[in-house]
Amino acid sequence: MKKEKAVVVFSGGQDSTTCLFWALNKFEEVVAVTFDYNQRHSAEIECAKAIASELEVEHHILDMSLLNQLAPNALTRTDIEVKDGEDGGLPSTFVPGRNLLFMSFAGVLASQVGAKHIITGVCETDFSGYPDCRDVFVKSLNVTLNLSMDEQFVIHTPLMWLNKAETWQMADELKGFDFVREKTLTCYNGMIADGCGECPACKLRRQGLEEYLEVRAV
Ligand SMILES: [Zn+2]
Repeated sequence: MKKEKAVVVFSGGQDSTTCLFWALNKFEEVVAVTFDYNQRHSAEIECAKAIASELEVEHHILDMSLLNQLAPNALTRTDIEVKDGEDGGLPSTFVPGRNLLFMSFAGVLASQVGAKHIITGVCETDFSGYPDCRDVFVKSLNVTLNLSMDEQFVIHTPLMWLNKAETWQMADELKGFDFVREKTLTCYNGMIADGCGECPACKLRRQGLEEYLEVRAV
């Protein structure tokens, strides 16, 4: 274990909780940061709080409600474009630059708390059209953050090239399998653990889990 400090970008979901286990295994001191932008379910924030508390991790919740000032505008503009005959087709959850903002604030926090390492659970394998979750973006931002604050941050993306089954495997190897399965929130309908079972997030999570359990049983 490195005697260094790390900030984990943490939502209380499967991916970022696995990253939290990863960081706890690797660094002496770990701080979690959650962004509150009035998520569809405040259950997300409560879930993140409970996990951080149980794992005895210092937890910062930053108010990012300003994102909601930007999102409706973008939607309004999309509406106008649709009228003009341009069918955008962006996912309704897409907020341009969201991860850029989150990672930048994580960098500011890391600077304040004296952490060299920043961990994020972004993943290019199930890349869903978010350009600021790509590996090349993270590498670029790492350089930019270091230049902007005269720091030597290292951004880690332990899940970047893993599929969902491999993410479950990582949690298992870190002795966090049951914890992640029972205590994290991925579901769009705000239901913890295995969730509602019906929404796209639950289906993706379950598919990965079943795939991994098959491998594990062999
Ligand atoms: Zn669900």
